[in-house]
Amino acid sequence: MKIVFSQKQKEHDPQAFFVAGTLHPHPEAPERADVLYAAARHSGLTVEEPVDYEFEYVRAVHTPRYLNYLENIFTRWSRIEGSTQEVVPGVHPDRRDCGYPASAEGQAGFHHADLSCPIGAHTWRSALWSAHTAAHAAHQVLLGDDTCYALCRPPGHHAAKDYAAGFCYLANTAIATTVLRKKFGRVAILDIDVHHGNGTQDIFYDRADVLTVSLHADPVRFYPFFWGHANEQGSGEGQGFNMNLPLSRGTGDDEYLQTLDVALDAIHRFSPDALVIALGLDAFEGDPLRGLAISTVGFGRIGKRIGATSLPTVIVQEGGYLSAELGTNLTAFLGGFTLGHGR
Ligand SMILES: [Zn+2]
Repeated sequence: MKIVFSQKQKEHDPQAFFVAGTLHPHPEAPERADVLYAAARHSGLTVEEPVDYEFEYVRAVHTPRYLNYLENIFTRWSRIEGSTQEVVPGVHPDRRDCGYPASAEGQAGFHHADLSCPIGAHTWRSALWSAHTAAHAAHQVLLGDDTCYALCRPPGHHAAKDYAAGFCYLANTAIATTVLRKKFGRVAILDIDVHHGNGTQDIFYDRADVLTVSLHADPVRFYPFFWGHANEQGSGEGQGFNMNLPLSRGTGDDEYLQTLDVALDAIHRFSPDALVIALGLDAFEGDPLRGLAISTVGFGRIGKRIGATSLPTVIVQEGGYLSAELGTNLTAFLGGFTLGHGR
């Protein structure tokens, strides 16, 4: 298996993170990439640098005004007298069908669902290379690899068509899926990050060619709060092609694996030609975000069951934050996956 990674993804170094109104160090630190990279190398993966796909795939999943915003907002923000070092909105619309403002401050409010996506000098470049990383890993599978691991950072599954959210700017998992659709007629997405993948859901909500399944801590008491409920099942042609499986806070390995079987049954019924795994490792019992309670051994079991689908697969890195076991959890998942895949 290859790991696709670019060092350019490490330039983004977000600072501001608000929890209950107070500032904390941002958990989506560049060091995450070093830990995950070392673990993937330890698992025997060979390194592949992504190529520059320019705007080909980001344009396929995001609106032109959102991409224009992301590319230019840091410079525009910096011109505001007394502005902060990072773009952080101070205002939000209460609906998406409102007027579109011309000002930097108004657009920041429009294009950020929350305060967790500060934009600094290098954010756009890192986010774009994170998207290229996902696209490049998917291309390896198009070219015949069974599986490829995209070490994407910043993550992507909370980013929707026209807004950033939850540390995510560009929708890497959706981009990998879009690349796979060039060859594969039906693609399933399985999101095992502890948070619901609201951005991925947003992008494919009205489509029947992509099944989106997400296991996550119940949004009734966990981010992203407003999405990820079981009754969100798709719309129009996409009705029935979006499945949310919320779990109680603190759910452990055995109950999780039972729910994973429900997800895998749905994927089997969909009969996909390829699979994208949105691999968050933040369901870990020791993750600083504390949503679920999966053990390191549990990640191996989860990987093995998903690997047994034996589909061409792109594994896209989503969340998973710094703890002593972050790297071991990736190694456990990849080891289990390879075992289950049987090749
Ligand atoms: Zn997460």
